[in-house]
Amino acid sequence: LVRLRDRLARSGSPLGARLLSVLSRDHLTEDDWDELEETLLLADIGAGPAEELLDALRTRVRVLGVRDPQAVRDLLREELLKVVDPSLDREVATTGPVGEDGSRLPAVVLVVGVNGTGKTTTVGKLARVLVAEDRSVVLGAADTFRAAAADQLQTWGARVGVETVRSDRDGADPAAVAFDAVRKGRADGTDVVLVDTAGRLQNKAGLMDELGKITRVITREAPLAEVLLVLDATTGQNGLNQARVFGEVAGVTGIVLTKLDGTARGGIVVAVQRELGVPVKLVGLGEGPDDLAPFDPEQFVDGLLG
Ligand code: GDP
Repeated sequence: LVRLRDRLARSGSPLGARLLSVLSRDHLTEDDWDELEETLLLADIGAGPAEELLDALRTRVRVLGVRDPQAVRDLLREELLKVVDPSLDREVATTGPVGEDGSRLPAVVLVVGVNGTGKTTTVGKLARVLVAEDRSVVLGAADTFRAAAADQLQTWGARVGVETVRSDRDGADPAAVAFDAVRKGRADGTDVVLVDTAGRLQNKAGLMDELGKITRVITREAPLAEVLLVLDATTGQNGLNQARVFGEVAGVTGIVLTKLDGTARGGIVVAVQRELGVPVKLVGLGEGPDDLAPFDPEQFVDGLLG
């Protein structure tokens, strides 16, 4: 897996350069504090967390009488880490429960999000990580809305050496495909079933119906281990709005933030965790099969600070 810190550092964080330039002044004026706040907002950290972080930092700088820029920077690092919240459980659940007959059920991971955010790619990358850990995997192509989606998923499956359950019919019932995938996973004693879904946001009621039906049908075979919401880090406020809708309709248990390689606005991690009250568990750092990393708060903060 790629190192998050190195990748973020290379993407040229605005936080890194700008914060450091402000912090290198040896007396922080009111204007400097405003500039710090603006910088945090530019990185999409969100108004609430930015204010909270700077209040805490100002208090500590004052109480401790800190002057040395490096010491201020260390305090900033600590406060950033607090708003990212290292205490959250970021493990993706990939071990299913034991069923009534004593055999282990597959861990079913439902992957949701708006089309184009990187769902299919994330499913492929995650399958690769699991296969590398010697776990058996089956993919379910429940995005039956776009004809090319199942092909794309199957290509990923072939690439990482796992089977894809799909329908050959456009517009087939996504819940039926999801059910078939989980049933196959169960019959084969597969460790993890990754289900890719369609994400059309035009119609919230329709989305809710579709995801609700998929969930109901799947759980006849095995309970959901995880519902991962895929969000594109480059979409800012739009991504947050998506998070809100999916949070309401899908019982999200973890967030995958994709395309962090293409943005200097990594602060969105903080904003989206606050919005949904669930942790960012994985991050996408490129289009290739190895460009998925577990989200590590410390590496992330170091990457932001450059
Ligand atoms: P879906 O419609 O949500 O299934 O999205 P796709 O998986 O088809 O991805 C949409 C586009 O985003 C594709 O061109 C992917 O290669 C690209 N993509 C996905 N994840 C990442 C990422 O982490 N970084 C970058 N740079 N591109 C990504």
